[in-house]
Amino acid sequence: MMSEEVGEGSKEAETGEETEDVTQLNPFIQFECGICGMKENTLHGNLQVSDGFFNCPVFFVRDPFIPYTRVRARKPCLADFLVLGGTCSMCERSVCIDKACSVYFGARFCAICVIRERRRFPEKVVEATLKAQAQAEASAAKSN
Ligand SMILES: [Zn+2]
Ligand SMILES: [Zn+2]
Repeated sequence: MMSEEVGEGSKEAETGEETEDVTQLNPFIQFECGICGMKENTLHGNLQVSDGFFNCPVFFVRDPFIPYTRVRARKPCLADFLVLGGTCSMCERSVCIDKACSVYFGARFCAICVIRERRRFPEKVVEATLKAQAQAEASAAKSN
């Protein structure tokens, strides 16, 4: 008799308060590009799949246009994921993979480091970054 009462009481308490910490269950973290400010909920880590891998942790999401069930039937491959960003191997800032924000040259480098350390990079890489930045600035000015 007593235990029944206790059971009912605790059931009410369970529904009444939500103590579950959703942030701990959610594997997604907030990624924010240190240059353009793009924000996205992403997964973070080493993306290693059947047909390739990234040699350093990246910010990625599963491609929302590919049904999850289809993906589960076979091994995941790089095409199933969208890589949104990475970490600059020089300054460790999080940056998106937009050409205006970072380049991949053996490792990921943010545009700020590429421009600051331009002598360490091939002219083409620096030029492409500067060009992309100019374009990004132009389109930002247009939308404002
Ligand atoms: Zn960016
Ligand atoms: Zn950097």
